[in-house]
Parts: sequence; C-alpha cells; structure tokens
Amino acid sequence: MMEMDRNEDAIVEECRVCGGEIYIDRDCDEDDIVYCNDCEAEYLVRSLDPVRLKLMHEERCDDDDFDEEYE
Ligand SMILES: [Zn+2]
Repeated sequence: MMEMDRNEDAIVEECRVCGGEIYIDRDCDEDDIVYCNDCEAEYLVRSLDPVRLKLMHEERCDDDDFDEEYE
C-alpha cells in the first residue's frame, strides 16, 4: 500500500456510516459504485457536480444510536 499519489485526482467525501473517507476517482461516472476506505460501505454516485452519494445497503447499520427509538 504505497501508492497514495493518485489521491490528488480524487474527490473525497465523508462516509455516512463511519465518518471515514470515500475516494471518488475523476474518471468515475454517475451511477458508478464507490466504496468507503474504512468500512467498505457501498455508495452509488448519483451525481458528480455537486457530488451526491447514495448509501446502498442501509439496512445493514451497526448499532450507532442515530435517531434510534427504543420501546
Ligand atoms: Zn465508512
């Protein structure tokens, strides 16, 4: 893992699941799938200008208490 130079060609977005970094390559297109660097969550690229990502497998959420309701 020494090839970090290509990062300057990427757009960086914040992961909604873990707060980590998602690198979106410049040659990415709309409807491509990108992955979080940290938790490998899948995101669909909905638009590139501005960058909008849609989380793919939302049902698989860990137990971080995000507006969770208990009975
Ligand atoms: Zn993540």
